Amino acid sequence: MKFALITGGSRGIGRAVCIKLAEQGYNILINYKGNTAAAEETLAAVKAKGVEGELLKFDVGNFEEVQTVLGGWIENNKEKQIEVLVNNAGIREDTMMFQMSNAQWKGVLDASLDGFFYVTKQVLTGMLIKRYGRIINMVSLSGLKGTPGQVNYSAAKAGLIGATKALAQEIAKRNVTVNAIAPGFIKTDMTDGLPEKELSAMVPMQRFGTAEEVAEAVAFFASRGASYVTGEVMNINGGLYS
Ligand code: NAP
Repeated sequence: MKFALITGGSRGIGRAVCIKLAEQGYNILINYKGNTAAAEETLAAVKAKGVEGELLKFDVGNFEEVQTVLGGWIENNKEKQIEVLVNNAGIREDTMMFQMSNAQWKGVLDASLDGFFYVTKQVLTGMLIKRYGRIINMVSLSGLKGTPGQVNYSAAKAGLIGATKALAQEIAKRNVTVNAIAPGFIKTDMTDGLPEKELSAMVPMQRFGTAEEVAEAVAFFASRGASYVTGEVMNINGGLYS
């Protein structure tokens, strides 16, 4: 019973990843924070691919919730192995730093960085014991280049890139790989409301990417074929930055 856990799987990039990994034959654990209706839509799409799916509702940035819900699932499903973890959950709270509140700073770091730490720790021991695993972290062009108006988000994603590279070296000899994907502008709820036409003009490909295009890269890092790739950050940005 091989499972893939995708955080923030209810919508956007996470949903496309759930469906793609279901196509690859993985049973899917769909984490989300609050949008049950959207999570159920993802679940139906996953099941339509002929695999098992389950919803796991918890806030990745809340240690107690992660421990109770995810830790509880692992404890109660010892025969089921989480082989692939996609740390995808994230939010943005954009504002110039001089007017950024503590809550805006902390909220963004909680979801991307604390979430990575709490969730990965739950899953890591199982991967190390089995001597196999694939961890994929969703970062951003903002974490590489820095984006004005996104000091919190850029810090969270840059931190996650550092964590990706460090953890990759810690656990490489157990055949557990850790890689990151850095999307540019992708058409999801997160980018809804951005001036798409104006921003697309800056992109060499002249358009926003799709969640499905990001999911293709996740599927590569998740595959057995990517066995000698670890600590890597892949840009998916239509040529915007490299
Ligand atoms: P989205 O459409 O806004 O979806 C966000 C997903 O994350 C939802 O499933 C949401 O759950 C979940 N989520 C948010 N906070 C959570 C938390 N604390 N605990 C658990 N789940 C949580 O976002 P997206 O565009 O697909 O982005 C996915 C990832 O890609 C994020 O890490 C984002 O930073 C990164 N990214 C996106 C873009 C882009 O252009 N879209 C570019 C670069 C990087 P609910 O449905 O329950 O709210």
